Parts: sequence; C-alpha cells; structure tokens
Amino acid sequence: MSDKEVVSANGMPQLVPSHYNLTFLGVGGPGAELGPVAVLERGNRPLLTIDCPPGMLDAYLDRYRQAPRALYITHTHLDHIGGMEELFHHTIDAAISDPAQRIRLFAHAGIVPSLQDRLVCNRFIRAEGGVNFWDAFQLVPVSRGFWLNRHWFDVFESRHMQPRFCYGLALETCFVYTGDTRPIPEVLKYVAAAGETVFHDCGVRANPAHSGFVDLLDEYPEELLNRIVCYHYGSAAEANTLQSHGFRTAPPGQRIRLPEPSRLRQLEERRAS
Ligand SMILES: [Zn+2]
Ligand SMILES: [Zn+2]
Repeated sequence: MSDKEVVSANGMPQLVPSHYNLTFLGVGGPGAELGPVAVLERGNRPLLTIDCPPGMLDAYLDRYRQAPRALYITHTHLDHIGGMEELFHHTIDAAISDPAQRIRLFAHAGIVPSLQDRLVCNRFIRAEGGVNFWDAFQLVPVSRGFWLNRHWFDVFESRHMQPRFCYGLALETCFVYTGDTRPIPEVLKYVAAAGETVFHDCGVRANPAHSGFVDLLDEYPEELLNRIVCYHYGSAAEANTLQSHGFRTAPPGQRIRLPEPSRLRQLEERRAS
C-alpha cells in the first residue's frame, strides 16, 4: 500500500508518511469475513497483533509475508482465539529448533486459565505426541500492562459478558483498543484522556455483550465520540449505517494513521540530544 492510501483517524487521506498505524485485517462481527484482528505497525512494519480469529494467519501472511512475532489476546471467545491452532502448526517446528522463534503471546493473567482450558487440554497436541502447545509460544501473563520494544502498553478491563473476562489495550497518546465491550466511560475517562484514537466495539444494534451506536451516543461526550473508530460491526452494510449516523468505521485492510506515542518520542529526542 502506498502512503497515498493511508487514512487518518478522521477518515481523510494522509499524504504524509505515517509512523504508527493500525490496520484491521478483519473487523469482526457476526457477518464479517474475518473476525477482529488488528495490527499495530511502526514505520509500516508490524509491531503487535491484537487477537487471532480463525483465518488470521493466511490474511497476515498475505499482507506481511511472515507470521506475527508478538500477539495480544483480549479474551477467549473463539472469534478472538480460533486461529491459535493454525499459528501453533505454523510455528512449532521452528520454535523447537530455536526457542527464539516462539511467538510472544501477551494475555491478562485473569484469562490464562481460560486460554489453558480452551487450547491446551489435550495430551496429544500432535498424534505422535512429544510437543506442548506452549512450545510454540512465549506466554507473558500481564496485569497492569507490558513492555514491548520500549513501548509500555496499558491493559484495562472491558465490560463483556462477565467480570474479568475481556481486557483492552492502550498506548498513551496513541490509541486505545477496547476489546469486546459494552460502553466503559469510567475507564475511557482515564485511558483515553490524552487524545488517543479509540477503537471501540460498536455495531448497529446493542446486545448484552456488545455496544450499539446509540449506547455510545448516550454514554460518551462529543469530544470522545469524535475520536472513536468502530469495529466488530457485522458487514459493509452495517458500516454504512454507522457512518450515516456520524460514526467512523475501521476499513478492513487499510492503514489508519495514529497519533505518535508522546513519551516514546520525548525519550528518543532526549537520547538524540
Ligand atoms: Zn467476545
Ligand atoms: Zn468478538
């Protein structure tokens, strides 16, 4: 993709090459082609992939020509972890020969038991045995957040189905990714307080597990609404409806330019001075 095809968070084309972008390979939702998977890029190179729906690996290889090196899992519904088995098979042989080839997998400690139950319950991951599921991954349980390539990512609890089940992600002054959630004004007041672009679960209709656009209009101030980009909507037709109500929607496959993470920039400027 050329820089001319990069869109900013406000949907306008950006001609200036971007430093940090988020690309949705899939936007999720019941009728979507691919479940929600977003890739944070720095300098157009993938830095962190968020969630792993079925079919994610093929879409990722098509775009980046390599498997992800770092993955963050928001929660354990299958539209978010159903592609982990494909990733395991793709990685395991290289990871056994060289543990440095394992994929770093960040997940809140509260969802690790559920990951274990859903992915690792079988003695014979392969019929011949001899390998463990985690031999392909370096699992990093997190609580308040984690470091990756000198970036500090804050992790926060969303509101999805039940307590301590889904956890969003934030990079200060750059972006917030809610994960599947009902509106969380009490959380975004803190983690989205510095101009971050907010990627928010939002479809046309609300349900007990997900947000609808009317929820967002009811719960969030206008300044925040202007920074929200909806994902986890069901189809292109749903995206059109959301847009007709004044919402921006994540365009599958297109880079969305993000504000720079200011703390990192300050550190780099101080290092260079
Ligand atoms: Zn979910
Ligand atoms: Zn979901």
